[in-house]
Amino acid sequence: MSNQRTFFDDEPRLTPTDLAPWERDDLRNRKIARIAFPSGFDSLLDYLVPTDIAAMLEPGMRVTVPLGRGNRPTLGYCAEVYSWGMADSPAKLKSILSLVDAQRLLDDNMVRLTHWIARQYLCSVGQVFEAMLPAGVRSQAGTRLTTVFFASDDLDKRLAVLDKKSREDDGIEPTTGRKRKALLTPKQVRVLEILRQSEEPLTSNELLRAGKCSAGIIGTLKRLGLIRARTVRRHQPQVATPIKPDLELDPHQLNPDQRRALDTIAAAVRESRHETFLLHGVTGSGKTEVYIQAIHEVVRRGKQAIVLVPEISLTPQTVGRFQSRFSDVAVLHSHLTDAERHHQWSNIAQGSVQVVVGARSAVFAPLPRLGLIVIDEEHENSFKQDSVPRYHARDVARKRAEDLGVPLILGSATPSMESWHAAATEKSDTLISMPRRVGTLRLPKVDIVDLREEIRSQSTRGAIHRQLHSAIRDALKEDGQIILLLNRRGFSTHIQCPACGEAMKCPNCDVTLTHHRSEDIVLCHYCDYQDAAPRNCVKCGFDGIRYSGFGTQKLETEIKARFPEASVLRMDTDTMQGRGAHERALAKFRAGNVQILLGTQMIAKGLDFPNVTLVGVINADTALHLPDFRAFERTFHLITQVAGRTGRGEKGGRVIVQTFSPDHPAIQAAAEHDYRGFVAQELAERQLVGYPPFTKMIRIVIRGENEANTLRFATDMAAKLKEKKADPSLRFRALGPAPAPFAKLRGFFRFHLHLHAVNGDWLRDRVREVTLALKTPREIQWIVDVDPVDML
Ligand code: ADP
Ligand code: ZN
Repeated sequence: MSNQRTFFDDEPRLTPTDLAPWERDDLRNRKIARIAFPSGFDSLLDYLVPTDIAAMLEPGMRVTVPLGRGNRPTLGYCAEVYSWGMADSPAKLKSILSLVDAQRLLDDNMVRLTHWIARQYLCSVGQVFEAMLPAGVRSQAGTRLTTVFFASDDLDKRLAVLDKKSREDDGIEPTTGRKRKALLTPKQVRVLEILRQSEEPLTSNELLRAGKCSAGIIGTLKRLGLIRARTVRRHQPQVATPIKPDLELDPHQLNPDQRRALDTIAAAVRESRHETFLLHGVTGSGKTEVYIQAIHEVVRRGKQAIVLVPEISLTPQTVGRFQSRFSDVAVLHSHLTDAERHHQWSNIAQGSVQVVVGARSAVFAPLPRLGLIVIDEEHENSFKQDSVPRYHARDVARKRAEDLGVPLILGSATPSMESWHAAATEKSDTLISMPRRVGTLRLPKVDIVDLREEIRSQSTRGAIHRQLHSAIRDALKEDGQIILLLNRRGFSTHIQCPACGEAMKCPNCDVTLTHHRSEDIVLCHYCDYQDAAPRNCVKCGFDGIRYSGFGTQKLETEIKARFPEASVLRMDTDTMQGRGAHERALAKFRAGNVQILLGTQMIAKGLDFPNVTLVGVINADTALHLPDFRAFERTFHLITQVAGRTGRGEKGGRVIVQTFSPDHPAIQAAAEHDYRGFVAQELAERQLVGYPPFTKMIRIVIRGENEANTLRFATDMAAKLKEKKADPSLRFRALGPAPAPFAKLRGFFRFHLHLHAVNGDWLRDRVREVTLALKTPREIQWIVDVDPVDML
């Protein structure tokens, strides 16, 4: 058995009370490192730090340590270093084998943050380290070991010695004036001078180029002891792929709403204090301009900022707005190669960047002088990571900003219930409203089309109903552009046999297959199972199988048939495959080469095209009836966001929403641009039933290939969670196990548990306690999702 004690990161250090005095003396100077492991272990282990690396080892560095009975050398992260510590004799601890990093990768604040995230999301500190450091940084991608040269620090002394020796060799007395051979050739002198002047050591290539000489000189100077060499790790030259800002932007003269917002935020920046600002500004109210000018305040004080945007909004247009206003902007997007990412990361860590713009994981950007964090579209689900660690970038940003004492701006036209509630109840939160669009622009008028009426009157068989058809025709006539949203990809979304009623489902998943007509296949959108599209029912053999339901492919076909002269572009995950496809499509649309842009939710966000005069929502109900407590909120967000894409120019704009639920409060409120009305009602509802933001929530998903065994395990887990009594004031509820809405995915049966309590720490403790004691059979897997956003 190993003598390592295991700890959770919040366990206190023990102090040695039972050591003999001489033992204490011996150990007083020994250091102990607490090591976190990226996999396998939830807990941290203590190791003795060998004296030869004690001076170098710091938290945030990687080490190899012997692990387990076999003392297998294993990579770990140093989470903490402390001097002597435990009641058990540290002399019995195993020692660290070696140090992996020469420099620390994360500063103290970031190391502290790993502990917080691990506690918050019930994962291991090692997993958080691994998530904070991009793979390219861990593998030091794009770097290689190079020899560099520098002038000896005792160069003058050495020259003097050489000079003396050469005179002696020549047999010349220093006093005689006779001419003699120079000590060094002019080229050698030049090279020495270059090195002496250079702030950094130079590679032989750099040196030879600068000194216009051959490699022999370096060897000679080295032999003479005048220059020295050392090995360092250097980034290889990058093939630069700068995103060119495609528009120049001057600072706007702020309108009164923007001015007020900026003044409020700037006060916190000036006083270097933490405050969370919820910037609730309608679409087109000029939020980005407020971010930019707030960042100017930060940069002017020698500090730096992070701007988080949803991955889908990380377009050249967005990035260009920052690049045209700041000289050093680093962009962290998902298409970077490991080498590029490592290079960016090093630049950021060295402090040479003013602003980092990136998606979720940019919240970990290692800026040394962070002065502000901005999260645009803070309500977006993509800020929550759906693999371990399942962190929410908004909450991590809040913690990081709090710890550093810097402001956080959360911007949205449709703030999340969580942020809205926090702004109303938390002392450190402030709501700032920008209820108007900039200039004289108005929010667009929204018309609701009742699809039930349309179907009853049988006026159309397609997806576009009369009102939307004539609106498209009018918009085209006036040279306006059109955006059509349909949140389902594929051609037909439903395949069913009219004779026996059999609906075609994926064999691995409990979901219906979608017909993709271009390849004539049926496809599962969850596991990518595919098969040739059947002509006959697989069950009864009937040959009149029905393909129905609308996906974006079918919509495209219908649009082209209805408006043959219009140029149409479809944007969904099927058409936007390659690198840069998304940007190219938007560039075409901006240039006016496309009149009708149709697609899934990827067209709903953040686009600012003044010539869009019509937005059509083909079916507002796609998200409305999902078994998810945020279904109404999502629907409201989606309609509001897509509606916000129009009315951004002089021509104005209108929105048509087709729905089977025209009276639904979420759809009504979105049509009236009534965010406050919607939140009031939604929050009241959530409070009544005890859902977030009024309770903390944890979702546990259990899956296995054998349905009965999986259910049995889930039931057992649920029973243990429910076992202990909880104070009624905690409003503790443990619901389930129930089959997850996707009851089967990729061949696994899925069950879930929903846990709620007012006190998040209490809830986490209970889950941790129960799951730690659990013996999980090999065939079963489970995940714990704290503050889940995915309920399916
Ligand atoms: P939001 O992010 O709130 O949707 P944007 O920041 O994208 O709004 O602003 C919408 C448009 O208005 C942009 O084209 C922007 O350049 C412009 N804009 C922003 N502030 C001003 C201002 N004070 N005066 C004139 N135009 C502005
Ligand atoms: Zn499937």
